[in-house]
Amino acid sequence: MTLSISSAFDGGNIRVVAIDGSRIDLEIAKDHQSDFYQWFFFRLTGAGGTPVELRILNCAGSAYPLGWESYNACMSNDRDYWERVESHYADGILTIKVTPASNSVWFAYFAPYTMERHHDFVASVAAHPNTAYRSLGQSLDGQEIDYFQIGEGPLQVWLYARQHPGETMAEWWMEGALDKLLDDSDPVSRTLRRKATFHVVPNMNPDGSRRGHLRTNAVGTNLNREWHAPSAERSPEVLCVRNEMDKTGVDFAIDVHGDEAIPANFLAGFEGIPSWTDAQGALFKRFSDALVALSPDFQTQKGYEISAPGEANLSMSTAQLAERFGAVSMTLEMPFKDNDDLPDPEQGWSPERSQALGRSCLDALHAIIDELPVRR
Ligand code: ZN
Repeated sequence: MTLSISSAFDGGNIRVVAIDGSRIDLEIAKDHQSDFYQWFFFRLTGAGGTPVELRILNCAGSAYPLGWESYNACMSNDRDYWERVESHYADGILTIKVTPASNSVWFAYFAPYTMERHHDFVASVAAHPNTAYRSLGQSLDGQEIDYFQIGEGPLQVWLYARQHPGETMAEWWMEGALDKLLDDSDPVSRTLRRKATFHVVPNMNPDGSRRGHLRTNAVGTNLNREWHAPSAERSPEVLCVRNEMDKTGVDFAIDVHGDEAIPANFLAGFEGIPSWTDAQGALFKRFSDALVALSPDFQTQKGYEISAPGEANLSMSTAQLAERFGAVSMTLEMPFKDNDDLPDPEQGWSPERSQALGRSCLDALHAIIDELPVRR
Protein backbone atom coordinates (compact mmCIF):
# COMPACT_ATOMS: atom_id res chain seq x y z
CA MET A 1 0.00 0.00 0.00
CA THR A 2 1.22 3.51 -0.81
CA LEU A 3 1.35 6.02 2.04
CA SER A 4 -0.36 9.29 1.27
CA ILE A 5 -0.93 12.57 3.13
CA SER A 6 -3.68 15.08 2.40
CA SER A 7 -5.06 18.28 3.95
CA ALA A 8 -7.35 19.65 1.23
CA PHE A 9 -10.39 19.79 3.49
CA ASP A 10 -12.15 22.12 5.95
CA GLY A 11 -9.53 23.32 8.45
CA GLY A 12 -6.73 21.20 6.97
CA ASN A 13 -3.09 22.29 7.16
CA ILE A 14 0.12 20.42 6.26
CA ARG A 15 2.72 20.30 3.48
CA VAL A 16 4.53 17.13 2.46
CA VAL A 17 8.30 17.54 2.22
CA ALA A 18 9.18 13.91 1.50
CA ILE A 19 7.90 10.37 1.94
CA ASP A 20 10.76 7.91 2.31
CA GLY A 21 9.57 4.37 3.01
CA SER A 22 7.70 4.56 6.32
CA ARG A 23 9.10 7.98 7.23
CA ILE A 24 7.08 11.02 6.30
CA ASP A 25 8.57 14.52 6.56
CA LEU A 26 6.07 17.36 6.87
CA GLU A 27 5.87 21.11 7.37
CA ILE A 28 3.08 23.28 8.77
CA ALA A 29 1.99 26.04 6.35
CA LYS A 30 1.96 29.67 7.49
CA ASP A 31 -1.33 31.54 7.88
CA HIS A 32 -2.04 33.38 4.61
CA GLN A 33 -0.22 36.76 4.52
CA SER A 34 1.23 36.09 7.96
CA ASP A 35 4.23 34.44 9.61
CA PHE A 36 2.15 32.64 12.25
CA TYR A 37 1.84 28.86 12.12
CA GLN A 38 1.33 26.00 14.57
CA TRP A 39 -2.07 24.47 13.68
CA PHE A 40 -1.92 21.22 11.71
CA PHE A 41 -4.67 18.87 10.59
CA PHE A 42 -4.07 16.16 8.02
CA ARG A 43 -5.09 12.70 6.89
CA LEU A 44 -2.78 9.72 6.48
CA THR A 45 -3.94 6.89 4.24
CA GLY A 46 -2.45 3.50 3.46
CA ALA A 47 -0.69 2.94 6.80
CA GLY A 48 -3.04 0.48 8.52
CA GLY A 49 -0.96 -1.90 10.68
CA THR A 50 2.29 -0.29 9.50
CA PRO A 51 4.69 1.45 11.91
CA VAL A 52 5.25 4.94 10.55
CA GLU A 53 7.36 7.89 11.62
CA LEU A 54 5.81 11.32 11.03
CA ARG A 55 8.19 14.25 11.42
CA ILE A 56 7.06 17.89 11.46
CA LEU A 57 10.28 19.63 10.54
CA ASN A 58 9.56 23.33 11.01
CA CYS A 59 8.39 23.46 14.64
CA ALA A 60 11.26 25.68 15.83
CA GLY A 61 9.99 28.61 13.74
CA SER A 62 6.37 28.22 14.80
CA ALA A 63 4.49 30.87 16.79
CA TYR A 64 5.03 29.15 20.16
CA PRO A 65 8.03 26.77 20.13
CA LEU A 66 7.50 26.12 23.86
CA GLY A 67 4.16 24.58 22.88
CA TRP A 68 5.96 21.49 21.56
CA GLU A 69 7.67 20.62 24.86
CA SER A 70 5.80 17.74 26.54
CA TYR A 71 3.17 17.90 23.78
CA ASN A 72 1.43 14.81 22.36
CA ALA A 73 -0.38 15.00 19.01
CA CYS A 74 -4.07 14.14 18.56
CA MET A 75 -5.14 11.21 16.35
CA SER A 76 -8.54 9.85 15.35
CA ASN A 77 -9.81 6.91 13.32
CA ASP A 78 -13.45 7.97 13.29
CA ARG A 79 -13.09 11.81 13.43
CA ASP A 80 -15.12 11.74 16.64
CA TYR A 81 -12.89 10.36 19.38
CA TRP A 82 -9.43 12.01 19.47
CA GLU A 83 -6.71 10.20 21.39
CA ARG A 84 -3.21 11.41 22.17
CA VAL A 85 -0.28 9.67 20.52
CA GLU A 86 3.16 9.81 22.08
CA SER A 87 5.19 12.52 20.41
CA HIS A 88 8.77 13.62 20.87
CA TYR A 89 10.21 17.11 20.37
CA ALA A 90 13.91 17.65 19.79
CA ASP A 91 16.04 19.92 17.59
CA GLY A 92 12.99 21.77 16.33
CA ILE A 93 11.34 18.57 15.04
CA LEU A 94 8.19 16.94 16.38
CA THR A 95 8.33 13.18 15.80
CA ILE A 96 5.25 10.98 16.02
CA LYS A 97 5.85 7.22 15.87
CA VAL A 98 2.63 5.29 15.53
CA THR A 99 1.09 2.19 14.00
CA PRO A 100 -2.36 3.28 12.76
CA ALA A 101 -5.15 0.75 13.22
CA SER A 102 -6.77 1.85 9.98
CA ASN A 103 -5.80 2.71 6.43
CA SER A 104 -7.43 6.10 6.94
CA VAL A 105 -6.47 8.09 10.01
CA TRP A 106 -6.46 11.78 10.97
CA PHE A 107 -3.91 13.81 12.93
CA ALA A 108 -4.35 17.29 14.39
CA TYR A 109 -2.77 19.80 16.78
CA PHE A 110 -6.00 19.60 18.82
CA ALA A 111 -9.40 17.96 18.18
CA PRO A 112 -10.59 19.96 15.15
CA TYR A 113 -13.73 22.06 15.08
CA THR A 114 -14.54 22.42 11.40
CA MET A 115 -16.77 25.02 9.76
CA GLU A 116 -19.11 22.18 8.80
CA ARG A 117 -19.50 21.32 12.47
CA HIS A 118 -19.92 25.03 13.20
CA HIS A 119 -22.83 25.21 10.74
CA ASP A 120 -24.46 22.14 12.31
CA PHE A 121 -24.05 23.71 15.75
CA VAL A 122 -25.44 27.08 14.66
CA ALA A 123 -28.40 25.40 12.99
CA SER A 124 -29.27 23.42 16.12
CA VAL A 125 -28.98 26.45 18.41
CA ALA A 126 -30.95 28.66 16.01
CA ALA A 127 -33.77 26.11 16.02
CA HIS A 128 -34.16 26.45 19.79
CA PRO A 129 -37.23 28.50 20.78
CA ASN A 130 -35.27 30.53 23.37
CA THR A 131 -32.73 31.92 20.91
CA ALA A 132 -32.76 34.74 18.37
CA TYR A 133 -30.28 34.24 15.53
CA ARG A 134 -28.74 37.04 13.49
CA SER A 135 -25.73 37.45 11.21
CA LEU A 136 -23.76 40.51 12.35
CA GLY A 137 -21.94 40.82 9.03
CA GLN A 138 -19.60 38.93 6.74
CA SER A 139 -15.95 37.95 6.84
CA LEU A 140 -13.54 38.79 4.02
CA ASP A 141 -14.12 35.33 2.48
CA GLY A 142 -17.87 36.02 2.58
CA GLN A 143 -18.84 33.88 5.58
CA GLU A 144 -21.47 35.03 8.08
CA ILE A 145 -20.48 36.20 11.58
CA ASP A 146 -23.07 34.14 13.46
CA TYR A 147 -24.63 35.66 16.58
CA PHE A 148 -27.23 34.53 19.12
CA GLN A 149 -29.23 36.49 21.65
CA ILE A 150 -30.53 34.42 24.57
CA GLY A 151 -32.40 35.52 27.70
CA GLU A 152 -34.20 38.69 28.66
CA GLY A 153 -32.50 40.11 31.77
CA PRO A 154 -31.01 43.61 32.14
CA LEU A 155 -27.38 42.45 32.59
CA GLN A 156 -25.57 42.39 29.21
CA VAL A 157 -23.31 39.32 28.95
CA TRP A 158 -21.10 38.71 25.90
CA LEU A 159 -19.51 35.33 25.18
CA TYR A 160 -17.29 35.08 22.10
CA ALA A 161 -14.70 32.58 20.97
CA ARG A 162 -12.10 31.61 18.44
CA GLN A 163 -10.65 34.96 17.47
CA HIS A 164 -7.65 32.69 16.99
CA PRO A 165 -9.01 29.95 14.74
CA GLY A 166 -6.49 27.22 15.62
CA GLU A 167 -7.74 27.38 19.23
CA THR A 168 -10.54 24.94 18.52
CA MET A 169 -11.08 24.15 22.22
CA ALA A 170 -12.73 27.59 22.37
CA GLU A 171 -15.63 26.49 20.19
CA TRP A 172 -15.91 23.16 22.02
CA TRP A 173 -16.30 25.32 25.17
CA MET A 174 -19.12 27.17 23.38
CA GLU A 175 -20.97 23.90 22.75
CA GLY A 176 -20.90 23.10 26.46
CA ALA A 177 -21.89 26.60 27.55
CA LEU A 178 -24.80 26.93 25.09
CA ASP A 179 -26.01 23.40 25.72
CA LYS A 180 -26.33 24.29 29.39
CA LEU A 181 -27.72 27.78 28.82
CA LEU A 182 -30.55 26.35 26.68
CA ASP A 183 -31.38 23.50 29.06
CA ASP A 184 -34.88 24.31 30.35
CA SER A 185 -34.53 21.80 33.21
CA ASP A 186 -31.39 23.52 34.57
CA PRO A 187 -32.31 26.00 37.34
CA VAL A 188 -28.99 27.87 36.97
CA SER A 189 -29.63 28.49 33.29
CA ARG A 190 -33.24 29.50 33.83
CA THR A 191 -32.07 32.02 36.44
CA LEU A 192 -29.26 33.33 34.23
CA ARG A 193 -31.67 33.87 31.32
CA ARG A 194 -34.03 35.78 33.60
CA LYS A 195 -31.29 38.04 35.01
CA ALA A 196 -29.18 38.54 31.90
CA THR A 197 -29.29 38.87 28.14
CA PHE A 198 -26.59 36.74 26.56
CA HIS A 199 -24.93 37.80 23.31
CA VAL A 200 -22.97 34.92 21.82
CA VAL A 201 -20.53 34.76 18.90
CA PRO A 202 -19.37 31.12 18.79
CA ASN A 203 -16.75 31.72 16.09
CA MET A 204 -15.19 35.15 15.53
CA ASN A 205 -12.91 33.91 12.75
CA PRO A 206 -14.65 31.59 10.27
CA ASP A 207 -12.13 32.32 7.48
CA GLY A 208 -9.11 31.33 9.53
CA SER A 209 -11.02 28.27 10.73
CA ARG A 210 -11.76 27.00 7.23
CA ARG A 211 -8.32 27.91 5.90
CA GLY A 212 -6.56 25.95 8.64
CA HIS A 213 -4.93 29.01 10.23
CA LEU A 214 -3.48 29.23 13.71
CA ARG A 215 -4.02 32.87 14.57
CA THR A 216 -5.25 35.15 11.77
CA ASN A 217 -8.08 35.84 9.32
CA ALA A 218 -8.09 35.68 5.50
CA VAL A 219 -5.63 38.59 5.15
CA GLY A 220 -3.30 37.70 8.01
CA THR A 221 -4.88 39.97 10.65
CA ASN A 222 -4.65 38.91 14.30
CA LEU A 223 -8.20 39.87 15.32
CA ASN A 224 -7.28 40.24 18.98
CA ARG A 225 -5.04 43.20 18.16
CA GLU A 226 -7.81 45.15 16.38
CA TRP A 227 -10.29 46.12 19.09
CA HIS A 228 -9.13 49.74 19.46
CA ALA A 229 -9.57 50.40 15.71
CA PRO A 230 -11.23 47.60 13.70
CA SER A 231 -11.61 48.21 9.95
CA ALA A 232 -13.73 46.83 7.13
CA GLU A 233 -10.54 46.12 5.15
CA ARG A 234 -8.51 44.26 7.77
CA SER A 235 -10.92 43.11 10.47
CA PRO A 236 -14.63 43.29 9.56
CA GLU A 237 -15.24 40.42 12.00
CA VAL A 238 -14.25 42.62 14.95
CA LEU A 239 -15.86 45.75 13.51
CA CYS A 240 -19.34 44.22 13.25
CA VAL A 241 -19.15 42.63 16.72
CA ARG A 242 -17.85 45.80 18.39
CA ASN A 243 -20.57 47.88 16.67
CA GLU A 244 -23.19 45.53 18.11
CA MET A 245 -21.59 45.80 21.55
CA ASP A 246 -21.81 49.60 21.30
CA LYS A 247 -25.57 49.16 20.85
CA THR A 248 -26.12 46.68 23.70
CA GLY A 249 -23.44 47.70 26.15
CA VAL A 250 -21.29 45.09 27.90
CA ASP A 251 -21.46 44.34 31.64
CA PHE A 252 -19.68 40.98 31.66
CA ALA A 253 -17.69 39.23 28.94
CA ILE A 254 -15.65 36.08 28.36
CA ASP A 255 -13.32 35.84 25.34
CA VAL A 256 -12.44 32.15 24.92
CA HIS A 257 -8.97 31.03 23.79
CA GLY A 258 -6.38 28.26 23.95
CA ASP A 259 -2.78 28.52 25.08
CA GLU A 260 -0.02 26.53 23.40
CA ALA A 261 2.56 26.48 26.18
CA ILE A 262 0.97 26.57 29.65
CA PRO A 263 -0.52 23.20 30.77
CA ALA A 264 -3.45 24.67 32.73
CA ASN A 265 -6.73 26.56 32.48
CA PHE A 266 -6.45 30.20 33.52
CA LEU A 267 -7.96 33.65 33.16
CA ALA A 268 -6.36 36.90 32.07
CA GLY A 269 -8.06 40.09 33.21
CA PHE A 270 -7.95 43.80 32.42
CA GLU A 271 -5.34 45.07 34.87
CA GLY A 272 -3.58 48.16 33.59
CA ILE A 273 -6.56 49.83 31.87
CA PRO A 274 -6.60 53.64 32.31
CA SER A 275 -10.02 53.65 34.03
CA TRP A 276 -9.27 50.71 36.37
CA THR A 277 -11.19 50.67 39.64
CA ASP A 278 -10.62 48.29 42.53
CA ALA A 279 -14.34 47.49 42.56
CA GLN A 280 -14.23 46.35 38.90
CA GLY A 281 -11.10 44.30 39.63
CA ALA A 282 -12.70 42.74 42.71
CA LEU A 283 -15.59 41.41 40.62
CA PHE A 284 -13.15 39.73 38.22
CA LYS A 285 -11.52 38.06 41.22
CA ARG A 286 -14.92 37.03 42.55
CA PHE A 287 -15.67 35.23 39.29
CA SER A 288 -12.24 33.59 39.26
CA ASP A 289 -12.61 32.39 42.86
CA ALA A 290 -16.08 31.03 42.12
CA LEU A 291 -14.72 29.09 39.15
CA VAL A 292 -11.90 27.64 41.27
CA ALA A 293 -14.53 26.39 43.72
CA LEU A 294 -16.70 24.91 40.97
CA SER A 295 -14.14 23.28 38.66
CA PRO A 296 -11.05 21.28 39.69
CA ASP A 297 -9.86 21.87 36.08
CA PHE A 298 -9.47 25.60 36.81
CA GLN A 299 -6.70 27.28 38.79
CA THR A 300 -5.08 30.67 39.42
CA GLN A 301 -1.41 29.83 40.08
CA LYS A 302 -0.27 29.53 36.46
CA GLY A 303 -1.03 32.19 33.87
CA TYR A 304 0.20 35.33 32.13
CA GLU A 305 2.11 38.20 33.68
CA ILE A 306 -0.24 40.96 34.89
CA SER A 307 0.02 44.37 33.18
CA ALA A 308 1.33 47.29 35.24
CA PRO A 309 -0.99 50.28 35.87
CA GLY A 310 -1.67 52.15 32.63
CA GLU A 311 0.00 49.50 30.47
CA ALA A 312 -2.99 47.45 29.33
CA ASN A 313 -3.08 46.65 25.61
CA LEU A 314 -6.34 48.24 24.46
CA SER A 315 -6.08 46.55 21.05
CA MET A 316 -7.06 43.31 22.84
CA SER A 317 -10.74 42.74 23.40
CA THR A 318 -10.66 42.09 27.15
CA ALA A 319 -8.91 45.38 27.95
CA GLN A 320 -10.95 47.29 25.35
CA LEU A 321 -14.29 46.11 26.75
CA ALA A 322 -13.27 46.81 30.35
CA GLU A 323 -12.17 50.32 29.37
CA ARG A 324 -14.95 51.09 26.88
CA PHE A 325 -17.91 49.76 28.87
CA GLY A 326 -16.63 49.35 32.43
CA ALA A 327 -17.22 45.65 31.86
CA VAL A 328 -15.96 42.80 33.99
CA SER A 329 -14.20 41.16 31.06
CA MET A 330 -11.74 38.32 30.81
CA THR A 331 -9.78 36.06 28.50
CA LEU A 332 -10.18 32.36 29.26
CA GLU A 333 -7.23 30.22 28.20
CA MET A 334 -7.45 26.43 27.93
CA PRO A 335 -4.43 24.22 27.23
CA PHE A 336 -3.50 22.52 23.97
CA LYS A 337 -1.60 19.96 26.07
CA ASP A 338 -3.41 19.09 29.30
CA ASN A 339 -4.24 20.39 32.74
CA ASP A 340 -1.15 19.03 34.51
CA ASP A 341 -2.92 19.17 37.89
CA LEU A 342 -5.49 16.62 36.68
CA PRO A 343 -3.96 14.92 33.65
CA ASP A 344 -5.64 12.48 31.28
CA PRO A 345 -3.01 10.44 29.41
CA GLU A 346 -5.59 9.06 26.96
CA GLN A 347 -6.97 12.34 25.61
CA GLY A 348 -5.12 15.19 27.30
CA TRP A 349 -7.22 18.34 27.28
CA SER A 350 -10.20 17.41 25.12
CA PRO A 351 -13.49 18.56 23.57
CA GLU A 352 -15.45 16.98 26.41
CA ARG A 353 -13.40 18.73 29.09
CA SER A 354 -13.69 22.04 27.24
CA GLN A 355 -17.48 21.61 27.18
CA ALA A 356 -17.50 20.84 30.91
CA LEU A 357 -15.52 24.00 31.63
CA GLY A 358 -18.05 25.97 29.57
CA ARG A 359 -20.82 24.70 31.83
CA SER A 360 -18.76 25.50 34.96
CA CYS A 361 -18.19 29.07 33.76
CA LEU A 362 -21.97 29.59 33.66
CA ASP A 363 -22.25 28.17 37.18
CA ALA A 364 -19.55 30.64 38.29
CA LEU A 365 -21.39 33.52 36.64
CA HIS A 366 -24.54 32.45 38.45
CA ALA A 367 -22.64 32.45 41.76
CA ILE A 368 -21.75 36.15 41.41
CA ILE A 369 -24.47 37.52 39.15
CA ASP A 370 -26.29 39.52 41.83
CA GLU A 371 -23.06 41.45 42.55
CA LEU A 372 -22.53 42.60 38.96
CA PRO A 373 -23.67 46.19 38.29
CA VAL A 374 -26.09 46.73 35.40
CA ARG A 375 -24.76 49.70 33.44
CA ARG A 376 -27.69 50.72 31.31
ZN1 ZN B 1 -5.81 33.01 21.48
